[in-house]
Amino acid sequence: MTRTTPPRPYDVEALFPALAEYRRTATRLHPRPGDPKSRDSSVAGPMLWPADEPWPECTAVHPKETGHLLADVRRARRIHAASEGRQKTEEETALLATLQAGSHDLAIGDADPIPMLAVAQLWARDIPDLAGPEGHDLLQIFWCPFEVHGPDRSVDVFLKWRRSDDIGAVLGEQPEPVVVGSPECVPQPCEVHPEQITEHEYLGLLPEDLRESIAEWEEELLDENEEEAEADFPTEYAGGLSLAPGWKVGGFATWHLTDPRPVDCAVCGTSMPPLLTAHYVEWDPASESWAPREDVRPDLFRHVITPTGVYLGRGSLRIHTCPADPFHPHRLSFQ
Ligand SMILES: [Zn+2]
Ligand SMILES: [Zn+2]
Repeated sequence: MTRTTPPRPYDVEALFPALAEYRRTATRLHPRPGDPKSRDSSVAGPMLWPADEPWPECTAVHPKETGHLLADVRRARRIHAASEGRQKTEEETALLATLQAGSHDLAIGDADPIPMLAVAQLWARDIPDLAGPEGHDLLQIFWCPFEVHGPDRSVDVFLKWRRSDDIGAVLGEQPEPVVVGSPECVPQPCEVHPEQITEHEYLGLLPEDLRESIAEWEEELLDENEEEAEADFPTEYAGGLSLAPGWKVGGFATWHLTDPRPVDCAVCGTSMPPLLTAHYVEWDPASESWAPREDVRPDLFRHVITPTGVYLGRGSLRIHTCPADPFHPHRLSFQ
């Protein structure tokens, strides 16, 4: 099923023609729990991975004994999904309590390598904003299921760009970590429903005069709609007009929790736009106008609003790649 983002409540470029210079496209992935196949674009679906190539591993030391068993994370999610929209039974509540992190007797040590999690497989044919190296039509994204790596103490992401024609025999059973640092690192397998939309630069990165014009216009709107203003801000540039929430490829980065920070390539200095944004919610009350028409279904709350179950940083992880050479090392940013 396709997903259709409704038109923005206001045409910002008609209101502020100077915004045309700050326009960029993004492809919303619209992940929804499902059963993706290895030839599909997906979140956490099976990868089209060559049988003769080693699966990516993390070799950092992690406190594995006190992590969550991946099987328990999945079991807890099945209980949540089955009980959606109703009170959980005593039995379900008791079972969920036993599926928390604990001390596990594992056959692996803290320093033993673990397979990375398959996070996303993205085909250029499905995702118009997937800007990769020339001739490469497939991107495979992995991360370690423990969050703390290196001096930044952050997630370790691995990107693999491929020419799909070069893939011979495909790996059958794919390795998985037995244990993960937190359930929020584990993406739920989702089919994606890519849709290209238009975004505009984050408010705080626009020139000052443009920012001021937008602020004046927003104030006028609030004066006109005093009652609505109390409830939420459906007309606000930041929430409703400029940047789409949820998982997306391309577009702009929001910096609403920190000051904007430049993300430049460590090799060539080129400014790196976000390639993938993994945002916890597909929309929230402040960004509700981005809810696709097909999904206005309150009975499907968890599957639609937080389909992937991933919560990194303070809700949003971004993978930035170098537009001059996508093989230059990627960088991450968080909000
Ligand atoms: Zn790791
Ligand atoms: Zn570069």
